[in-house]
Amino acid sequence: MTGRVAIIGAGPCGLGAARELSRLGHDDFVIYERSQHVGGLASSVVDPAGFTWDHGGHVVFSHFGEFDRLLQEALGDEVYEHDRSSYIRVAGRWVPYPFQNNLRHLPPKEALECLIGLIKAPGGNPDMDFSSWMEAVFGAGITRHFMRPYNFKVWATPAERMSARWIGERVSVVDYERALRSILFEEDDVSWGPNNRFLFPMVGGTGEIYRRVALRFADRIRLGHELVALDPEAKLLRFTNGRTDTYDHLISTMPLDLLVARIEGAPERIRQEAAALTHNSVYMVGIGYEQPLKDDRSWLYFPEDNAPFYRATNFAKYSPANVPDADTARYSSYMTEVSFSPWKHEPRQGLEERVERGLRAAGVVSGRPKVVSAHVETIPYGYPVPTLERDRILRTVQPWLMEHDIYSRGRFGAWRYEAGNMDHAVKMGIDAARRIIADKPEELWSL
Ligand SMILES: Cc1cc2nc3c(=O)[nH]c(=O)nc-3n(C[C@H](O)[C@H](O)[C@H](O)COP(=O)(O)OP(=O)(O)OC[C@H]3O[C@@H](n4cnc5c(N)ncnc54)[C@H](O)[C@@H]3O)c2cc1C
Repeated sequence: MTGRVAIIGAGPCGLGAARELSRLGHDDFVIYERSQHVGGLASSVVDPAGFTWDHGGHVVFSHFGEFDRLLQEALGDEVYEHDRSSYIRVAGRWVPYPFQNNLRHLPPKEALECLIGLIKAPGGNPDMDFSSWMEAVFGAGITRHFMRPYNFKVWATPAERMSARWIGERVSVVDYERALRSILFEEDDVSWGPNNRFLFPMVGGTGEIYRRVALRFADRIRLGHELVALDPEAKLLRFTNGRTDTYDHLISTMPLDLLVARIEGAPERIRQEAAALTHNSVYMVGIGYEQPLKDDRSWLYFPEDNAPFYRATNFAKYSPANVPDADTARYSSYMTEVSFSPWKHEPRQGLEERVERGLRAAGVVSGRPKVVSAHVETIPYGYPVPTLERDRILRTVQPWLMEHDIYSRGRFGAWRYEAGNMDHAVKMGIDAARRIIADKPEELWSL
């Protein structure tokens, strides 16, 4: 007997789990969501000026048939399909992404430094810390001009504290022969990676996907319910609004460190380990301009310190509906991401001005177009950081949770950045549901 399944969080993972439970004919489930809307980090907002923003640059691409089917069911043909057009701003030039594959676009001095570094690089292995790994794989030049400053801007964590185990398909590893070829034959290599083609909903931003998925079981979603305490012996949940519920199985998609901190009677060893997990935080700063959309690129990376953001997304290009009245003959918009952490302070005051100045200083916009919107969303949990101790912590904490019928899954539930995108989160939710109902082994999540 499976009994009652409680799901914490109505983001992609929780909704993926709910949809699968419902598909398998198991209707005894309920989703508890802290906020007043579904979608989690993958939700979208419309600001008072009428611009739509995501919580940072989201591109929809998929590794899993199950995610493709969810998208098809939710959006049908109401999607745009884009070819990635992505660049890195270095030394006043736009270098096509991935940087390391397209060194020929750098000024000669920097290109030579990067190439010599690449030739001399001894090669790395996943047991290295991330700092040593980038030097060993890319050499001194690429590390100095791109890898180190860019990664610090994203992770807001010293690379020495990070592992190199997450890299896989997240970082393009190039050899010097390919780099030389690109320089001598003046060839670009821009198709690398899983997201070189991506989809985007025609209306409503990324969040539209999850708004539509949730419609199917809206009567089972309890908004405004923040889990504040959990008794694993009595299988009892308590929420900040005073309500309680019991469960037989729990799928939690809230951050793992916060979950463990709220479990009554959790052993001290488990608490301490979970508390040592590291994350960064992100400000999404969206700038809406009264200026026609002319830029044809998708998103841009910024390793240098003339702009506070590490990435800017040309959001009107993703869908005209992202600007007021879908009027791209009048409006354009850039969605930027600025990280912060105890290692990287980013004062909230004046942030919008710094970002807007950065867009001009880095050459994203020229002249002084009229700013008609400056919208900020604060994302306290942005990236789950793959620190050196992360895997040890997960191998200690997760088995203890599983012994108590608690499946902690999703971007911050599993705390595995390498499986931290929307398609991964949905797949983890689906797999957890199948495991609970049909005892099927999970295909994505592992320790
Ligand atoms: C800056 C940024 C850029 C990204 N770019 C991409 C991209 O390009 N492509 C891509 O596929 N993915 C991208 N992602 C990742 C994507 O947002 C996540 O994979 C996805 O949202 C994770 O879904 P989830 O359900 O696991 O977690 P979440 O989306 O975090 O959902 C968890 C839910 O739990 C709720 N919750 C938390 N605590 C409690 C509590 N105590 N009680 C009740 N509810 C609670 C939250 O409110 C939230 O709704 C990006 C993420 C960020 C931050």
